[in-house]
Amino acid sequence: MRLGEYRRIVGFTGARISTESGIPDFRSPGGVWATNRMIEFDEFCASRAARVEYWRQKAAVWPGMRAAAPNAGHRAFVELERRGRLSALITQNIDGLHQRAGQSPGLVIELHGTMAEALCLDCGDRTPIDAALGRVLGGEAAPDCEHCGAPLKPATVSFGQAMPAREVERAVSACRECDLLLAVGSSLVVYPAASLPLLAKESGARLVIINRTPTPLDEIADLVLREEIGTAMPRLIEELEP
Ligand code: ZN
Repeated sequence: MRLGEYRRIVGFTGARISTESGIPDFRSPGGVWATNRMIEFDEFCASRAARVEYWRQKAAVWPGMRAAAPNAGHRAFVELERRGRLSALITQNIDGLHQRAGQSPGLVIELHGTMAEALCLDCGDRTPIDAALGRVLGGEAAPDCEHCGAPLKPATVSFGQAMPAREVERAVSACRECDLLLAVGSSLVVYPAASLPLLAKESGARLVIINRTPTPLDEIADLVLREEIGTAMPRLIEELEP
């Protein structure tokens, strides 16, 4: 199977495209939840102590994420865009590495939000995460919005928190309209990971899965590559005429 004939490709990326940049998969054994208490969204809203703990965890994780560099997998999606083949890039990742690799921000659909910003839970004001974490490190253990005083939260989707409706809507239309869905580095187990590539397939698109381990959608995929993303993606792109 060659990518050459496909013009409306949608990418769908999961944690494993970023593990190749050294960012740990937080769901993996020994991941962050093995050592940190998971704080769900309702608890974050209800308890200042929970917010303090949440910000402490984020302050510990962010420097490593910020220091990570995009890899060949991220750059391959940029190349797909440059060649006019990519209509959207849906990601479960919060690290911003697609944008930092040079992807147009307008093409990236972040289902789980982003770690790059903090968001006011009341007025919706956004500030760079570095500014918010600077306040945390400066002694405000759980910073509040400078405009309205409501709690600030990293702009990621927490457990128990709904995914942003607009992003989900964009992802659904992208999957309905694509001619190829390229699922990369996702185990395709958790919702909506499983349902979006499935939707694309049911809408008539071809499905390509690149993942080191088997996924529940392998059976219906048109091509499954169980190899490193940084090797497989550039090779697929090379097959495209410039
Ligand atoms: Zn506010």
